[in-house]
Amino acid sequence: MTKTSTLQKEFQERMDYDELLNCTRCGFCQPTCPTFIESNRKESSSPRGRIALMKAVVDGVIEPDEGFERELSLCLGCRACETACPSGVKYGQLLEDARAIVAEQKQLSFFKRVTQRFLLHTLIPNRFLLKGGIFFLWLYQKSGMQRLARKTKLLKLFSSSMFELEGALPQAPFPFRQLKSSDRDADQNVALFRGCIMDALFLETNQHTVDLLEGTGHSVDIPAGQTCCGALHAHAGDREKAVELAKENIRAFESGEFEQITTNAGGCGAFLVEYPHLLKDEPGWKERAAAFSAKIKDISSLVAAANTVNAYKIPEQKVTYQDSCHLKHGMQVHTEPRSLLRNIDGVDYVELRNAGMCCGSAGIYNLIEKEMSMQILDHKMEDVQKTGSAVIVTSNPGCLIQMRLGIKRAGLEDRLEAVHLVDLLHEAKQ
Ligand code: SF4
Ligand code: SF4
Repeated sequence: MTKTSTLQKEFQERMDYDELLNCTRCGFCQPTCPTFIESNRKESSSPRGRIALMKAVVDGVIEPDEGFERELSLCLGCRACETACPSGVKYGQLLEDARAIVAEQKQLSFFKRVTQRFLLHTLIPNRFLLKGGIFFLWLYQKSGMQRLARKTKLLKLFSSSMFELEGALPQAPFPFRQLKSSDRDADQNVALFRGCIMDALFLETNQHTVDLLEGTGHSVDIPAGQTCCGALHAHAGDREKAVELAKENIRAFESGEFEQITTNAGGCGAFLVEYPHLLKDEPGWKERAAAFSAKIKDISSLVAAANTVNAYKIPEQKVTYQDSCHLKHGMQVHTEPRSLLRNIDGVDYVELRNAGMCCGSAGIYNLIEKEMSMQILDHKMEDVQKTGSAVIVTSNPGCLIQMRLGIKRAGLEDRLEAVHLVDLLHEAKQ
């Protein structure tokens, strides 16, 4: 049997055909899809087109060739199409299933295999190794090496993407700093999902999350044994590792009596609520996954419910908001961040055109599909500039880094800054 026909057989056996049939081809999803728009309305680069391609593979009408894989890869997985779809097609699950099948069958080059395995299996799920990586970043930023590398444009010799991204990274936290919560009783007991990148690179934001929650009458637990949510793994087609990580997280959070589990990263939150789907075929895990995901809440929902933000204040300025795709389209959280911002004294809130459209970050999409990512980002920055804002707020680490990169590319560093919603709220609360 050839490689292609094996792949086709896997599609026939494993794709959810009913879900593929749910698409009525109405096209309502297309104007919300960044890759459709940026590709000059190419049907195969649209949600409807990709669903048609998947169905055609299952029906045996086309072979899952390179063109097909290319369209799967070009999709950001932003799920804006799901929000727009009147038939409720679960596009994100179809995409994940299709990518998992392709990834399992694909023979990556030795270099790619080793790099992907190191990143996804060794570095990201290991808190200590990840902190070690952040230590080197901290050293690089503090020792003067960063200034030298920027002056000599040294990184550009290795990769122009790395050179650009490096300039958008935040200041790495002091390597030995620990996340702290007060040991106190409160009416509402919340557990923090600390994440991997949030915990390593945005530790300050995680600490601000704890402080904000405690300031709104919650007690905050940070269960040991939790790990990366597995979203990056699932999006890269590595479902096996995502399942393993999901089980680790469920076990860690079952160790305490928490009414809610909060996240401050839209990408993590949307994946945590999908654990029941991820573990649907794992005996004994369905109910545990459902109980876990029912408790997941984005930080903005908890702070908005506490209703204390009208006492917060910042110096008068225009502020706008870029949705995290997964927070908006995966968790349906979009009014809470806006109402929090509007209620801060000093904030002149301006809505961003197409705020729910992806910024082109999408995990590591900005590294592997750089051209499309930068095209999307540059158009996003044009819309941001039209708001006249001094601050653009986001709710996900990837979006935040991408916004900083966009600001740099547009030469707006002296007029515009990008901040995480939690950090702005924390600043306003002082
Ligand atoms: S997930 Fe995003 S990029 Fe992919 S098809 Fe849907 S709207 Fe387009
Ligand atoms: S909006 Fe939904 S049903 Fe309509 S074409 Fe898009 S995916 Fe299919």
